[in-house]
Amino acid sequence: MKGNIRVFCRFRPLGKREQENGDIPVLHKADAFSVDLQRPAPHNDSRRFEFDAVFSSDSSQEEVFGDCQDLVQSAVDGYNVTIFAYGQTGAGKTHTMYGTSENPGLAPRAIESLFRVIRREEGQGRKSFSVKAYMIELYKQDIIDLLVEARPKDQKSLQDAGRGIMFVEGVSERPITSPEQLKAVLAEGERRRHTAATAMNSSSSRSHLLLSIIVEAAVKDTEQVIYGKITLCDLAGSERPKKSEVSGEALKEAIEINKSLTALGDVIEALSKGSKTIPYRNHKLTMLMQDSLGGSAKTLMFVNCSPASSNSEESMMSLKWATRAKQVTNDVKRNADSKEVARLKQVIALMSQAQNAQDL
Ligand code: ADP
Ligand code: MG
Repeated sequence: MKGNIRVFCRFRPLGKREQENGDIPVLHKADAFSVDLQRPAPHNDSRRFEFDAVFSSDSSQEEVFGDCQDLVQSAVDGYNVTIFAYGQTGAGKTHTMYGTSENPGLAPRAIESLFRVIRREEGQGRKSFSVKAYMIELYKQDIIDLLVEARPKDQKSLQDAGRGIMFVEGVSERPITSPEQLKAVLAEGERRRHTAATAMNSSSSRSHLLLSIIVEAAVKDTEQVIYGKITLCDLAGSERPKKSEVSGEALKEAIEINKSLTALGDVIEALSKGSKTIPYRNHKLTMLMQDSLGGSAKTLMFVNCSPASSNSEESMMSLKWATRAKQVTNDVKRNADSKEVARLKQVIALMSQAQNAQDL
């Protein structure tokens, strides 16, 4: 079964400050799949970009989730599913991925939907499920476990378990039995997320956030275990350092973010060209996303944009970056192993956790 990476574009309404500054909207949805960027002077040009879906400033969170819902079923059916948001700071990535309690985004909606699907399938009596989750942040080169209270000064390291499966050594995996519990885990992780102020948006995040939900289904009266994974990734802002007028530590952050997003772009380009070697190893971000990009994964990428005229160059860059991703073809396959293989994988994970505990 073949499936492309799907790319959705979403642009938000003009913010209050943008309106006060005399910004005008330069992004216009032309139809369900196309968006026009009308650049102001000195360019005075218009360019059309096509995606698998375009959501404009008046699209609701419900509407956006409606087009992603099938991926939850895919994870339950045993696929690796990744949804990630790319775009400049303030473009609406966190709004799309997480939203607010009054206006929840993809993650809380996916969580509700996941447990609905699981309850329904359990009700049919053929499978029994177990769910666990981990949440990590990649801040510069450091992998930080967001589900432990005291941050150990040694960061987590990555281990290759073969077949493109990367383990974050010793990461806390929480067993989850209800949507409420999973949402509490999410809130806990978000609270710990590392943020640094920039001139552009003082509360924006300068790190990549990854939430992974692992779904294991044991098929009754057989040896089969089906395991799927949903990874929701809120990437750090893609803007170039000079626009944010950052310096010192913030500049270092910006440079590292740039490196990581360039590495992600290179991986996407290599996948889209069908290259034999894919440069996953160029950055920890792409290593972390290795089992979720290309290969056997199903991937949905959001390119989030500000509609403001003052951000038109950033929007142009983001839309071009996202256009590269559309060419990627994944070899989608299910993760089904015998119980023995699943057990061995569990042993490997436990051994690496034990090793990590010794190192601390
Ligand atoms: P990012 O995570 O890309 O830096 P945010 O998600 O924090 O951006 O969004 C920046 C601001 O714009 C927030 O105040 C958010 O509530 C608002 N916003 C983003 N997207 C939308 C949208 N689709 N509709 C309404 N407000 C939005
Ligand atoms: Mg954000």
